[in-house]
Amino acid sequence: MAGDGCELAEESEFFVKFWGVRGSIACPGHEYERYGGNTSCLEIRCKDQLLAFDAGTGLRRLGAHLKVNGTPNDGLEADLFLTHTHHDHIIGLPFFVPMFDPKNRVRIWAGHLAPDSHLHDVLCRFMAAPLFPVPPKIFAANVSYHDFVSGETLEPRPGVRLRTAPLNHPNGATGYRVEFEGRSICYVTDTEHDPKKLDRNILELIDGADMMIYDCSYTDEEFSQYKGWGHSTWQEGARLCDEAGVKRLVIFHHDPSHDDDFLDGVAEQAEKLRPGSVVAREGTVLTP
Ligand SMILES: [Zn+2]
Ligand SMILES: [Zn+2]
Repeated sequence: MAGDGCELAEESEFFVKFWGVRGSIACPGHEYERYGGNTSCLEIRCKDQLLAFDAGTGLRRLGAHLKVNGTPNDGLEADLFLTHTHHDHIIGLPFFVPMFDPKNRVRIWAGHLAPDSHLHDVLCRFMAAPLFPVPPKIFAANVSYHDFVSGETLEPRPGVRLRTAPLNHPNGATGYRVEFEGRSICYVTDTEHDPKKLDRNILELIDGADMMIYDCSYTDEEFSQYKGWGHSTWQEGARLCDEAGVKRLVIFHHDPSHDDDFLDGVAEQAEKLRPGSVVAREGTVLTP
């Protein structure tokens, strides 16, 4: 089955680990046990450098893992890149334990807000009474907030290059391409496609990449019911990968209505259409 056999040792120097693979809302329950119910969160390691993508409920577990396994004595240094600030992509932020240790340094980045608004202001509105008990100033870590404009190239760490592109999503979103030592991982969620033509911005971003993690909320068969909701299909992900010469499609941002059995079916069909495709599960580790 696609997805099995792809879990690789964490000693690899460049890898992605999935801590949350679900879209829209966290889904606890026995029918989500195998693929996982936490919302979007990825850990990408470039040697000893830690990058995280999105702060869905999966970020809480990444934080717990880092507390036990990954924090040097002089503190942790992490860059957290947000695709956008819809709830399912930020709800885990106040529950990320590294934010509460004054030794840690966390930089948070977003490309969909500038120049009209700013990430820090948006997070202050999110963590505010009467919707949330404490504001972001509760964070004890050294936290900095960085706005950029989707399309810019970022070089947050030596040897790590991030290309970015704007995505078609209500209120905007940013797609990322992480390049390290000649290999590349693309992270493209949340985005809605036009069934009549492939998205130029995405094709340019993912051109020749080793891997694309894509917003596969729906199937092509379901898509017409969800026009304007800002999401795409796994078949569109396959078409984009074919056109751009991407090696591996990773099916991600699973809709809450897609339980384990449904996703097994997607994995089977995806393996036929594009062998080597992976349906992301919590805990999956992939190297590009
Ligand atoms: Zn989402
Ligand atoms: Zn969204």
